[in-house]
Amino acid sequence: MKRVLVTCAHSDDAVIGCGGTIKEFTDRGIEVLAVSICGDRINGFDKAMSMLGADFVALKNSYGKINMDVMISDLENIFEDFNPDVVFTHWTNEILYDHELVSKQVIKLARQYDHDILLYELPATSVDFTFDVAVDITRSYTFKLKALFEMKEAFDVETFKNEVLPSVVYAPGYRGILTGCKYAEVFKSLGVRKPLSPYGRRLMDIEKLL
Ligand SMILES: [Zn+2]
Repeated sequence: MKRVLVTCAHSDDAVIGCGGTIKEFTDRGIEVLAVSICGDRINGFDKAMSMLGADFVALKNSYGKINMDVMISDLENIFEDFNPDVVFTHWTNEILYDHELVSKQVIKLARQYDHDILLYELPATSVDFTFDVAVDITRSYTFKLKALFEMKEAFDVETFKNEVLPSVVYAPGYRGILTGCKYAEVFKSLGVRKPLSPYGRRLMDIEKLL
């Protein structure tokens, strides 16, 4: 069975960045494990992940105070035990410190363990985001939205209303317009390992050009 590891600094990031894609995977019988590096502000994370069909783990770090040594050793154990085929993590240029820290460390580990890497977008914090992979989440979009509402209690009312909810309400529709479907999530691929080729995901059937 194929396995997908989704890593995020804070539990809501997984839903905003790739909640629809998680549901598309699990609907196809692919095992998904979501790891929140911070273990606080996780109200509803369990319900959100069960809505998307994924397993989850929350590590013992706090928002804005990630302990690097603890994070690295916990992630190493997860990489060894779960042995994912693909790893999702944050974009590399993030205005939120935790996001960038997690992105850099997960990319290092994924390369060390020889796994494919896809970076997801968080509209409120990802700077100069570019993508080369899009997933049609039209079927799973309502699950992404419902999963986010399961986590509503983790935020103060204003943050949820002004920042978190719009990221899920508007971004997938805009990305859908750009890529030719109703709702999409988009990712930057950092290369596929078989064959070794940084732009391997762009290799497409010539029929698709017509
Ligand atoms: Zn976050």
